[in-house]
Amino acid sequence: MADIIKILPDHVANQIAAGEVVQRPASVVKELLENAIDAGASNISLIVKSGGKTLIQVVDDGQGMSRADALLSFERHATSKISSAQDLFNLSTKGFRGEALASIAAIAHVEMLTRMESMEVGEKIGIEGSKIVSQEMAVTPKGTSISVKNLFFNIPARRNFLKSDQVELRHIIEEFQRVALVHHGIGFHFHNNGSELFNLPPVNLRKRIAQVFGHRMEGRLVPVREETGLVGISGFICKPEFAKKSRGEQYFFVNDRFIKSPYLHHSVVSAFEGLIKADHHPGYFVYLEVDPAGVDINIHPTKTEVKFEDEHSLYAILRSTIKHSLGQFNVAPVLDFDHDPNLDTPYSYRDKGVVLPKVTVDAGFNPFGGGSGSGGKFQKVDTRGWEKLHEGLMETDTKGFSSLLVESHTEIQGDLYSDDQMGEPWATTLQLGRKYVVGTVKSGMLVIHQRRAHQRVLFEKFLGEITVKQGLSQQLLFPLELEFNKGDLDLLKELSEPLTNVGFAFGSWEGETLKLTGVPLLIPESGIGKVLDHLLADYRDGYGEGNISQAELLAKILARNLAIKSGEVLDQESQLALLNKLFACKEPALSPFQKITYTIIPDGDIDKKFS
Ligand code: ADP
Ligand code: MG
Repeated sequence: MADIIKILPDHVANQIAAGEVVQRPASVVKELLENAIDAGASNISLIVKSGGKTLIQVVDDGQGMSRADALLSFERHATSKISSAQDLFNLSTKGFRGEALASIAAIAHVEMLTRMESMEVGEKIGIEGSKIVSQEMAVTPKGTSISVKNLFFNIPARRNFLKSDQVELRHIIEEFQRVALVHHGIGFHFHNNGSELFNLPPVNLRKRIAQVFGHRMEGRLVPVREETGLVGISGFICKPEFAKKSRGEQYFFVNDRFIKSPYLHHSVVSAFEGLIKADHHPGYFVYLEVDPAGVDINIHPTKTEVKFEDEHSLYAILRSTIKHSLGQFNVAPVLDFDHDPNLDTPYSYRDKGVVLPKVTVDAGFNPFGGGSGSGGKFQKVDTRGWEKLHEGLMETDTKGFSSLLVESHTEIQGDLYSDDQMGEPWATTLQLGRKYVVGTVKSGMLVIHQRRAHQRVLFEKFLGEITVKQGLSQQLLFPLELEFNKGDLDLLKELSEPLTNVGFAFGSWEGETLKLTGVPLLIPESGIGKVLDHLLADYRDGYGEGNISQAELLAKILARNLAIKSGEVLDQESQLALLNKLFACKEPALSPFQKITYTIIPDGDIDKKFS
């Protein structure tokens, strides 16, 4: 029988390896940036065209290569970084597999220009599909420039698999940011289709994070630091109030390499427990230094997954370090998350047995079902839907709640109030547990949920303003300057019309800065930045709802962000205003998020408690 085993020709082997190393333009960017860093560059430029499909070029001012090394660098397993297997355990460089350049050259048109400081002229090499097509001396600055054109030109299936330029560019930006976030001492430039995306001069880490994610980030960061025998931890976490609904900035680096670790992520999230809402995500930039012998970074070809030897200890140390930072920098809850300190058990009651009071509320009970002015017992209706309750009201009293509450006292007394009630409607409101406003109606006790009720009030107000364009604006003496990253600014531009309608007045948009010349009356100037932030995050999330209009979505978001919160103390006047405004709404029974805004506990139920 004939022998059938063949050794694959090198260019075929390279193409196969390339499939593993180079999945998309962003992988090339990563490899080239890492090589530039390994070469000791202090300035690195990245130039990209059409999402990297037509050009990816990285220019560095690092040590460059000799003529022989320049040629060798494209050979598979050519690396200057290890010479024995033992070296693998003591690596401080990024690359070491010696595969990247060989792989890239197998599937693209590559041109390299390189010069070492000691050389008088440099070297220029052209390679296409693993074949050297040109080699000559060239005048070139110290360092290396590698341009990669027509990626996957010889693997059409791969090329067709690439996504739109925009998507590929996003991946490239992500890789770029990961690298820039580690090497803050290196200056980076990034151009796409001729326009500058990033210009990052060398700075400290905190400033680098701000360069990458917008200047407002700087004030949100809280440092973390810990040294133990097992691990060194440094970096920053974002203050809990800036947690985002969308998964925001979450970065782990191990020995200066970006990694993904659901396990360590969990550790960070658990440290934030109780400080941020359940559906929000904390931002963090955590840098771990571990003994290279205790971590296997290379279990995945794209090297973002790692295996730690002592994962459990790492988890615990990380968690307590972050908790410590949160405590030390006094960033414990600034926002209220429905936690009401008044409802906490006082110390004197702890350890004592608790008898839970039982309140049964008949959800189908309709205080208005008996008809206006009947004065007698209310009938129960067999609906449990609160919208129906509202419809029922409309049928019996065409003027609606609002008229009942604000126009004529006699009418109210005749209906909602019992005869011995004081003349002033709602004169006897009180606040319960800083969460509810309680008033009496003829049939019993009215309990409204202050946050949801206010959301309803604001929602209808903003919706009206957005559609009728009559929001009251407070003109600012000095324009308010706010910093946003590019994506956020674009989104704000998109929303500028409806936002103008509710009272925002936009001045100029320059770079990362937005100037506001007016703000809605309702929002204090100092709170504008935060409101816009929340608005952007919420808008991006679209509130998970289908086809609601932009106006409605915006009104909801503003209502949610500006409504009084549970835990806020309301004085008597505000309580009254809230009740009156709620019942002046078109749909007082439900919050804009379809939650019940109020309930009525019938007298009968209260009587039962005393029987
Ligand atoms: P690795 O980085 O794993 O060693 P690469 O294929 O990425 O493998 O690079 C091969 C070799 O080429 C490197 O080990 C290095 O010696 C050299 N090299 C690559 N890029 C550069 C650069 N920008 N400047 C200097 N030398 C470089
Ligand atoms: Mg490399």
